[in-house]
Amino acid sequence: MARVYAASLAAIQRHPMPAPARWSCSLLALLAAACGGKTGDLVRLAPARRGIDAAGRMHPGPADRCPICAMTTDDSKGVAAIELDDGTAHYFCCAGCMLQAWLAPQEVLAAGTRRIARARAVDYFTGEHVDAAEVHWVAGSDAVGPMGRRIVPLQGDAALAKFRERHGGTVVFRLHELDSSLLQRAQRAAPEHDARR
Ligand SMILES: [Zn+2]
Repeated sequence: MARVYAASLAAIQRHPMPAPARWSCSLLALLAAACGGKTGDLVRLAPARRGIDAAGRMHPGPADRCPICAMTTDDSKGVAAIELDDGTAHYFCCAGCMLQAWLAPQEVLAAGTRRIARARAVDYFTGEHVDAAEVHWVAGSDAVGPMGRRIVPLQGDAALAKFRERHGGTVVFRLHELDSSLLQRAQRAAPEHDARR
């Protein structure tokens, strides 16, 4: 199953991505097709081996793959996480993938919005693991990660002002403001996966 999943993702990555709003649907449909199931029979990745600790620190490992794109996750600045109410966590390769799962947890994590306990990300300047609901998110800046331009989390107003002075940024939002059209704008401004086309 894992190989089929990886093959499906490789196929997706070889071809131009659909618009972000259609991305997860296309991905899920493809995965379901690859497994001979209906679109409703989702193939999901297991929760992370090691979740978020009491101090809010993420511990992604080599076996933890992004539930959106199946890329490996690591302890880099781009990593982000969602923790469910049972204490299990999923790590994401980048903020864009985490934010997509935040909007569609049922489809991506088989857990409704009410089951999300918290989300974490890595502050751009300090490297601290911070609450995704408390930071400013900035897209459309010149900040790049391993996979292209990033959607960047920044803790505090001063950090936001400093970042925008240095790196710009055309889309700025808080997690509670996020909806699908805003995410689409942010992903267009910071196409983290485009570099792999
Ligand atoms: Zn991803």
